[in-house]
Amino acid sequence: MPEIPLRKGYSIQESDTVRTSVIENLSAKNFISLSKDEIVTCKKCGWHFVVDAEFIRRGSKVCPICQKTITKPKNTTYQSRVTSVNYKQIIKSLDKNLRAIFGDSNLILDKTGRYWILNEKERQSLLSIYGVSATTSFFSIANDEGIVFYLDSESIKPILNNFNKARFVYVDSPLITDSKGLRDLLNSLDHSNTLKYFALKTAFESYVQKVGPEYFEKTWAPLFIESIKTKHENLRQLYARLQTVKDTIINTKFVNIGGPGQPDFFLINTFEYLQAGLKPEKYGEMKCYTKSEFTMEDFGKALGHAVSNDTLSIVSSNDIHPMVWSKIFEFKNQEKYYKHVIIDKDLILFLIHNLELRDLIQ
Ligand SMILES: [Zn+2]
Repeated sequence: MPEIPLRKGYSIQESDTVRTSVIENLSAKNFISLSKDEIVTCKKCGWHFVVDAEFIRRGSKVCPICQKTITKPKNTTYQSRVTSVNYKQIIKSLDKNLRAIFGDSNLILDKTGRYWILNEKERQSLLSIYGVSATTSFFSIANDEGIVFYLDSESIKPILNNFNKARFVYVDSPLITDSKGLRDLLNSLDHSNTLKYFALKTAFESYVQKVGPEYFEKTWAPLFIESIKTKHENLRQLYARLQTVKDTIINTKFVNIGGPGQPDFFLINTFEYLQAGLKPEKYGEMKCYTKSEFTMEDFGKALGHAVSNDTLSIVSSNDIHPMVWSKIFEFKNQEKYYKHVIIDKDLILFLIHNLELRDLIQ
């Protein structure tokens, strides 16, 4: 079976019957929404046009590739085009299949981070979806481990190599329902760095619980920022490393900017984001939050305090409202840099690990 990229805008001509049937099957599973477009093919260069209202009104169109004027023929053909990717349904379906294989009690779906933690006697591992799961810290600490599901093989090409390619699994692969195959794959992977990641995550979560919100906000967060300032050399090395992997998952933070039930993802260049966030000017406007969810109201307050200044918010959770991220990108587009930066739990772990700040959560 050919792998169809679950990518908005991807289209297949009806003459390609094999792929058309695969894409219709994905649509029947509700992984994607499709539209059927009437198309005309340029006789000179083979370019496909969608017959839109303008084409119908004018009766002709100039080919953008070869400049030939094309008139609408009597017999047109159709293409299937992906109009949206239904991430919610993909996660639901994967979750169902994984539960059938590993059992309910061993599998935890992190709804905010959109990844799974698998706890079994002999191992703890993480299963994520490339471009959907929010786990910058995981990819930084255990970058070549765990199973990563992907929607579009083009998107993972830059990071594939002979050593890691086995762990990448297409979201509609038969392997997802193959209990033995998926277990064999998990058994073949190294999980030692995954354990380091989980140990750090657990240590941070228990520390926040132990010290309570007030201590965390008033004492810990300022100390965290002060400590970052003293780690010049580690920060320099981290930035240098991020620049060498700038187009990979290790330098990417995936955030949800969609409305309820309709996630849409934005890719943050971690290097650029941290550089803007950790500028000394931002420290003066630092605010800290231990709420389980960071809402638009919280963000509004952070901005209100800062008037027209830059802001830096330290949030002990990963649950940042999608509207907040949208606003952050709006400001970024206006100002050409990240004027408002949120360091969420994922990035706190990322910084603790990479700047050797483990002592702060002992
Ligand atoms: Zn043409």
